[in-house]
Amino acid sequence: MKDTTYEPVIGLEVHAQLKTQSKIFCGCSTKFDAKENEFTCPVCTGMPGCLPVLNKKAVEFSVKMALATHCQVNERSIFARKNYFYPDLPKGYQISQYDQPLAQKGHVEIQVDGQTKKIRLHRIHMEEDAGKNIHGTISSYVNLNRAGIPLIEIVSEPDVRSSQEAGAYLRELRSMLRYLEVCDGNMEEGSFRCDVNVSVKPIEQKEFGTRCEVKNINSFRFVEKAIEYEIQRQIEVLEGGAKVIQETRLWDSDQNKTFSMRSKEEAHDYRYFPEPDLLPLRVAPAWVEEIKRTLPELAKQKKERFMKMYQLSSYDASLLVQEKSLAQYFESVIEICKEPKLASNWILSELLREFGPEQGATSPVTPQHLGELLALIVKGTISGKIAKQIFEKMVQTGQAPQAIVQKEGLIQVSDVAQIEAWVEEVLKEQKAFVDKYHAGQTKLFGFFVGEVMKKSHGKANPAKVNETLKKKLVKGA
Ligand code: ADP
Ligand code: MG
Ligand code: ZN
Repeated sequence: MKDTTYEPVIGLEVHAQLKTQSKIFCGCSTKFDAKENEFTCPVCTGMPGCLPVLNKKAVEFSVKMALATHCQVNERSIFARKNYFYPDLPKGYQISQYDQPLAQKGHVEIQVDGQTKKIRLHRIHMEEDAGKNIHGTISSYVNLNRAGIPLIEIVSEPDVRSSQEAGAYLRELRSMLRYLEVCDGNMEEGSFRCDVNVSVKPIEQKEFGTRCEVKNINSFRFVEKAIEYEIQRQIEVLEGGAKVIQETRLWDSDQNKTFSMRSKEEAHDYRYFPEPDLLPLRVAPAWVEEIKRTLPELAKQKKERFMKMYQLSSYDASLLVQEKSLAQYFESVIEICKEPKLASNWILSELLREFGPEQGATSPVTPQHLGELLALIVKGTISGKIAKQIFEKMVQTGQAPQAIVQKEGLIQVSDVAQIEAWVEEVLKEQKAFVDKYHAGQTKLFGFFVGEVMKKSHGKANPAKVNETLKKKLVKGA
C-alpha cells in the first residue's frame, strides 16, 4: 500500500460584534454589563408590527473593515430573512444578508514562518445577533440583550492550509478590527467568534474533500487545537477506507476533541428571502471615499514605519504594534525622551511585564512619566538600576519620576570628590583584597565596584566609579 500524504483545506467564518452605541435596527443600548433583558424593546424582542430601522454607524463600521481587507464594497446590497425557530430568536428569523452582501472579494495578508501569504475573503455581510438561552435545572431562560447587536460575518475562501495559518489569519483580523475601533475583539465575551471548516485531501488531488464545520470556538488556542484534531480524525477516517460525512461539529475543550452536533441531513433550510421591511442598502461611492479617508494606520503599516523610522527589529516592532494603544504609548514616550531603542526596551520589558499589552497604555505609569524617567537616565541624573526602583514606585503610586527622585534622594552622584571618598573608604576597608588584586587577582575589580555602589546606596555614577577605582588601584601599587 502506498503512503498517502494529505493536505488540509480550511476556510473560516468569523462573527464580529460591532462596537456601536445602539443595536442594528433599534435604539437599545449594546452595553455588555447589564441586567437580563435590560436593553430590549418591541423591535429587538420581535413584537409583531414593529419595523426595523438600520443603524448608519453599523454600516460605516462594516465598510471600514471591508476597505481594510481590500473588499469591493457593493453600492447596493440586500437584507434577507434567514428563517429558523429558536427561543433566542423571537421573530423566528434573523435579518442577515444572503446573495447580495455588503462587500466581497477581499484579502488579508498573514505571516507564517517568515513567509507572507494572502488569504482571500469571499464576502463580508451584516446581520443581527440573536439572544442567549440560559438553561437552569428546572427552567430555561432567554436573555435578549444581545438580540439585535450588529455583527459582521467575514467569510474566507478555503485558502488556509494549517492550524498555524488559521491562527495567524484570525489574529490579523482581530488586530484590524481593534485598530479600526469597530469591534473590541473580546473572545470570552463573544464579540469575536469563529467557525472553522476543515477538509483533507491527498496532496496531489485537485478537488477538495468533504468538509466538517466546527462551530463557535472561543479562543485562538482552541481553534488551532480543533483544526489539528479534525485533520487527524479525517485522515484516519479516509485511511480506514470510509468517507468523511459533511456535518457540523462542536469543540469540547475539556476532552480536546470535536463531536458531531448535526449532519447535513439535519441542516436547516433557512428559506432566505429579501427582508420586506427594509429597503435595499445603498452605500454611495462618495461615502465610501469619505470613510476611506478616515482609515487609521493599521498594525502592519505601523510596524514597517517603526522599523524604518526608529531602527527597531522586526520582532520588537511587532510586539509594540500588537495593540494600537501600546504603539501610541511608545510614540508618546519617545516624544519626551527622544530615545526610541531605550523606550522600546523599557516598554517591552518593564511595562509589559507589569501590565500586559492591552492594559499597558492605561496603566498608572503614563507615557509622559515613563518618558521623563528615561530622560533622567539619558541625562545621567539617575542610573539604570535606580530607574528600575523608581519605576516600581511609579507602578505603585502613579507619581512622576522627579517627585520620587526628590523624595527618596535618588539622584545619581557624579561628583568626583564624593566618589573618591567612597572609593578610598572601600579600599581601606578591603585592604586584604586590595593586596590580592595587586598580587594579580585583577578579577576582584568588579568586587570593588560593587562595594562602592553599595556604599553609595546605588547612587554613584558607575562610569565614574570605574574610572576612579582604576586610578586609585594603580596609584596604590
Ligand atoms: P455555507 O454557506 O454552508 O456556510 P460556504 O460555501 O459559504 O458554505 O462556505 C463556508 C466556509 O467553508 C467558507 O469559509 C469556505 O471557504 C469553506 N469551505 C468551503 N468548502 C470547503 C472545503 N471543501 N474544505 C474546507 N473549507 C471549505
Ligand atoms: Mg457556514
Ligand atoms: Zn431594541
